[in-house]
Amino acid sequence: MKQTKVVLNFPENIVEDPVTYHLIVDYGVQVNILRASIDPGKQGMMVVELSGEESQVSHGLNYLEQVGVQVESLAEEIRHLEDRCASCTSCIPHCPTQALEVDRESWYVSFEPDKCILCLSCLEVCIYSAISVKERLY
Ligand code: SF4
Ligand code: SF4
Repeated sequence: MKQTKVVLNFPENIVEDPVTYHLIVDYGVQVNILRASIDPGKQGMMVVELSGEESQVSHGLNYLEQVGVQVESLAEEIRHLEDRCASCTSCIPHCPTQALEVDRESWYVSFEPDKCILCLSCLEVCIYSAISVKERLY
Protein backbone atom coordinates (compact mmCIF):
# COMPACT_ATOMS: atom_id res chain seq x y z
CA MET A 1 0.00 0.00 0.00
CA LYS A 2 1.38 3.39 -0.96
CA GLN A 3 0.20 6.76 0.35
CA THR A 4 1.45 10.07 -0.89
CA LYS A 5 0.39 13.68 -0.41
CA VAL A 6 0.68 15.84 -3.48
CA VAL A 7 -0.42 19.22 -4.79
CA LEU A 8 -2.19 19.08 -8.16
CA ASN A 9 -2.14 22.18 -10.32
CA PHE A 10 -4.77 22.21 -13.07
CA PRO A 11 -4.29 24.45 -16.10
CA GLU A 12 -7.32 26.42 -17.30
CA ASN A 13 -8.08 24.09 -20.21
CA ILE A 14 -8.69 21.02 -18.02
CA VAL A 15 -9.94 22.53 -14.78
CA GLU A 16 -13.50 21.35 -15.54
CA ASP A 17 -12.53 17.83 -16.73
CA PRO A 18 -13.42 14.83 -14.49
CA VAL A 19 -9.77 14.07 -13.75
CA THR A 20 -10.35 12.95 -10.16
CA TYR A 21 -13.13 10.63 -11.32
CA HIS A 22 -10.79 8.92 -13.80
CA LEU A 23 -8.12 8.62 -11.16
CA ILE A 24 -10.53 6.75 -8.90
CA VAL A 25 -12.50 4.68 -11.42
CA ASP A 26 -9.90 3.92 -14.11
CA TYR A 27 -6.79 3.63 -11.92
CA GLY A 28 -8.26 2.45 -8.60
CA VAL A 29 -6.56 5.23 -6.66
CA GLN A 30 -8.22 6.44 -3.44
CA VAL A 31 -8.30 10.24 -3.44
CA ASN A 32 -8.64 12.12 -0.18
CA ILE A 33 -9.08 15.83 -0.95
CA LEU A 34 -7.45 17.88 1.80
CA ARG A 35 -7.84 21.30 0.23
CA ALA A 36 -9.11 22.60 -3.11
CA SER A 37 -9.39 25.87 -4.93
CA ILE A 38 -11.08 25.43 -8.30
CA ASP A 39 -12.81 28.16 -10.32
CA PRO A 40 -14.28 27.30 -13.72
CA GLY A 41 -12.22 28.89 -16.50
CA LYS A 42 -9.24 29.57 -14.23
CA GLN A 43 -6.32 27.53 -12.97
CA GLY A 44 -7.15 25.18 -10.12
CA MET A 45 -5.27 23.65 -7.22
CA MET A 46 -5.97 20.59 -5.06
CA VAL A 47 -4.05 19.17 -2.13
CA VAL A 48 -4.76 15.44 -2.06
CA GLU A 49 -3.64 12.25 -0.41
CA LEU A 50 -3.43 9.41 -2.93
CA SER A 51 -3.55 5.80 -1.72
CA GLY A 52 -3.49 2.42 -3.39
CA GLU A 53 -1.15 -0.30 -4.52
CA GLU A 54 2.21 1.06 -5.63
CA SER A 55 1.40 0.37 -9.31
CA GLN A 56 -2.05 2.03 -9.06
CA VAL A 57 -0.60 5.21 -7.58
CA SER A 58 2.26 5.21 -10.06
CA HIS A 59 -0.06 4.75 -13.07
CA GLY A 60 -2.44 7.36 -11.64
CA LEU A 61 0.40 9.89 -11.32
CA ASN A 62 1.45 9.14 -14.91
CA TYR A 63 -2.14 9.71 -16.04
CA LEU A 64 -2.23 13.09 -14.27
CA GLU A 65 0.94 14.22 -15.98
CA GLN A 66 -0.28 12.98 -19.37
CA VAL A 67 -3.44 15.09 -19.15
CA GLY A 68 -1.44 18.17 -18.16
CA VAL A 69 -1.84 18.28 -14.39
CA GLN A 70 1.33 19.50 -12.70
CA VAL A 71 2.06 17.30 -9.69
CA GLU A 72 4.23 18.52 -6.81
CA SER A 73 5.14 16.70 -3.64
CA LEU A 74 3.49 18.39 -0.65
CA ALA A 75 6.83 18.37 1.16
CA GLU A 76 8.21 20.63 -1.59
CA GLU A 77 5.45 23.18 -1.06
CA ILE A 78 5.95 24.13 2.59
CA ARG A 79 9.06 24.67 4.65
CA HIS A 80 9.71 25.27 8.31
CA LEU A 81 12.61 27.74 8.36
CA GLU A 82 14.47 26.62 11.46
CA ASP A 83 16.86 29.57 11.40
CA ARG A 84 13.87 31.94 11.73
CA CYS A 85 11.81 29.87 14.15
CA ALA A 86 11.89 31.19 17.72
CA SER A 87 10.14 28.08 19.09
CA CYS A 88 7.52 30.46 20.48
CA THR A 89 4.92 27.64 20.11
CA SER A 90 2.18 30.01 18.86
CA CYS A 91 1.55 27.73 15.88
CA ILE A 92 1.19 24.51 17.89
CA PRO A 93 -2.50 24.83 18.91
CA HIS A 94 -3.39 25.92 15.37
CA CYS A 95 -1.92 22.87 13.64
CA PRO A 96 -4.76 20.33 13.27
CA THR A 97 -2.53 17.38 12.44
CA GLN A 98 0.43 17.79 14.83
CA ALA A 99 2.71 18.36 11.85
CA LEU A 100 4.20 21.09 14.02
CA GLU A 101 5.10 19.75 17.44
CA VAL A 102 6.99 20.95 20.46
CA ASP A 103 9.36 18.82 22.50
CA ARG A 104 8.20 19.43 26.08
CA GLU A 105 11.72 19.08 27.46
CA SER A 106 13.77 21.18 25.06
CA TRP A 107 10.83 23.34 23.83
CA TYR A 108 12.21 22.84 20.34
CA VAL A 109 9.51 23.08 17.64
CA SER A 110 9.84 20.61 14.79
CA PHE A 111 7.94 20.06 11.56
CA GLU A 112 6.94 16.78 9.92
CA PRO A 113 5.81 17.43 6.31
CA ASP A 114 4.18 13.99 6.01
CA LYS A 115 1.54 15.03 8.55
CA CYS A 116 0.85 18.46 7.00
CA ILE A 117 -2.38 19.12 5.07
CA LEU A 118 -1.41 22.61 3.90
CA CYS A 119 -4.26 24.28 5.82
CA LEU A 120 -1.92 27.30 6.24
CA SER A 121 -3.17 28.07 9.77
CA CYS A 122 0.42 28.23 11.02
CA LEU A 123 1.30 30.80 8.41
CA GLU A 124 -1.30 33.20 9.78
CA VAL A 125 -0.05 33.06 13.37
CA CYS A 126 3.72 32.94 12.88
CA ILE A 127 5.02 36.47 13.44
CA TYR A 128 8.58 35.35 12.69
CA SER A 129 7.77 34.27 9.10
CA ALA A 130 9.27 30.89 9.91
CA ILE A 131 6.81 29.04 7.68
CA SER A 132 7.31 29.40 3.97
CA VAL A 133 4.93 28.23 1.25
CA LYS A 134 4.88 28.73 -2.48
CA GLU A 135 2.99 31.89 -3.44
CA ARG A 136 0.35 30.19 -5.57
CA LEU A 137 -0.99 28.35 -2.50
CA TYR A 138 -2.31 31.52 -0.87
S1 SF4 B 1 4.85 30.30 15.34
FE1 SF4 B 1 6.61 30.43 13.97
S2 SF4 B 1 8.32 31.01 15.30
FE2 SF4 B 1 6.69 30.27 16.61
S3 SF4 B 1 7.14 28.08 16.89
FE3 SF4 B 1 5.73 28.24 15.15
S4 SF4 B 1 7.05 28.33 13.37
FE4 SF4 B 1 8.34 28.76 15.12
S1 SF4 C 1 -0.08 24.08 7.13
FE1 SF4 C 1 -1.62 23.37 8.62
S2 SF4 C 1 -1.20 21.20 8.86
FE2 SF4 C 1 0.61 22.09 7.86
S3 SF4 C 1 1.99 22.58 9.52
FE3 SF4 C 1 0.79 24.42 9.13
S4 SF4 C 1 -0.94 24.30 10.55
FE4 SF4 C 1 -0.02 22.25 10.43
